[in-house]
Amino acid sequence: MSARAYICSADHREILDYMFGSKKNAIYLDYAASTPVSKSVMAAMEPYFSDLFANPSSLHIPGQKAQAGLDTARHDVADMLGCGWQEVLFTSSATESLNLALRGVIKASRESVQKPHIITTNIEHSAVLKTCQDLESDGVEVTYLPVNSEGLIKAKQVEVALQENTVLVSVMYVNNEIGTIQPIAEIAKTISRARSKSQIANRKSSSHKPFAISHLPFFHTDAVQATNYLDINVEHLGVDLMTFSGHKIYGPKGIGMLYKKETVKMRPQITGGSQERELRAGTENVAAIVGFAQALKDVEEEKSKETQRVHDLRELFIEKILKGVPSATLNGSRDLRVAGNANFCFSHTTSEVLIPTLDALGVYASGGSACSARVPEPSHVIAALGGEAECAKSSIRFSLGRPTTRDQIESAAAAVIQLVSI
Ligand code: PLP
Repeated sequence: MSARAYICSADHREILDYMFGSKKNAIYLDYAASTPVSKSVMAAMEPYFSDLFANPSSLHIPGQKAQAGLDTARHDVADMLGCGWQEVLFTSSATESLNLALRGVIKASRESVQKPHIITTNIEHSAVLKTCQDLESDGVEVTYLPVNSEGLIKAKQVEVALQENTVLVSVMYVNNEIGTIQPIAEIAKTISRARSKSQIANRKSSSHKPFAISHLPFFHTDAVQATNYLDINVEHLGVDLMTFSGHKIYGPKGIGMLYKKETVKMRPQITGGSQERELRAGTENVAAIVGFAQALKDVEEEKSKETQRVHDLRELFIEKILKGVPSATLNGSRDLRVAGNANFCFSHTTSEVLIPTLDALGVYASGGSACSARVPEPSHVIAALGGEAECAKSSIRFSLGRPTTRDQIESAAAAVIQLVSI
């Protein structure tokens, strides 16, 4: 069977039936939190747990076979991103990639910039926000750009926030809670224009002290929630650093990736062996890396068709909810929104009440990001939209995926409408 045939939704329904046991009609709408590993990915990984188990750093034949699997995966990923194989770094998760991007660039910058400055947004994933907060306690200056009521920032805001000591701009491609798509290519152009302007100013300057901005800042984007549906070509986007996660793209958990443009100056955060070009020590998780490459291949092969299919189902869901629950509002822009995401504010109730009740009805959704869903805290993303304060506590994210069908969307919408109308 071809890899393409393996990733059909019937395979996933089998996995979901297994997961949900007797709840035959259960509807999982939390694919932004995690996706099931596809059969093609499992098949690609399997030999690296058994026959091809050796350490890729070993010089003997079994070691070289594992190394060959690793090399092929790295080259395949590089081809899909439109970058060089040397620019692909594997890590244990997107969280680790984000930490490496932020902390690694800051550490390298300290050699030439006394008080480095980062620009980010106030709706980033906690892996970015908490890392920024930690860096602030270490003397780093951080600007958190506010989003508008649609959950979007403008490239102009980045331009205005740039300072001489700005070493990194980190703006997420797609928000994990509300699915809004930020203007990444436009921001990249703005940064690149600022770099060239300061280079000219530098050349003209009689001072011997050049602007720190003459070769910086670098531009990082968190593409974890964008990978399934949007363009990830690094040339098209114009980014210097880009973060990915395996378990959001029907690959395994415990694997992340960081695209790092050759010119980005970075210091490792995990030291030890010389793996990943001495930027991330530790024996490579070959099986997961091979699985990640296969998952990305499957995504790229099906992207345009699957994006349209999921987008149409998502639109149907939004229409049904907004019609069936007149008091509900959609959080975030409807147009600049990734295909699989719908996030509503249901006033007069809380997500703490709605999530378990929906759960009992066999509809699995989420109150926010997977990482904060267990902590009953208001969503910082919904709060940042500046709407009714109660929305931060009464919003629900529904995220569609490969196994989602029209029947499921109709049943889930009916369940939500029934529940919220009680
Ligand atoms: N960034 C975004 C936008 C995410 O949605 C997530 C996971 O929810 C992460 C980063 C962290 O990914 P991982 O679970 O691979 O650490």
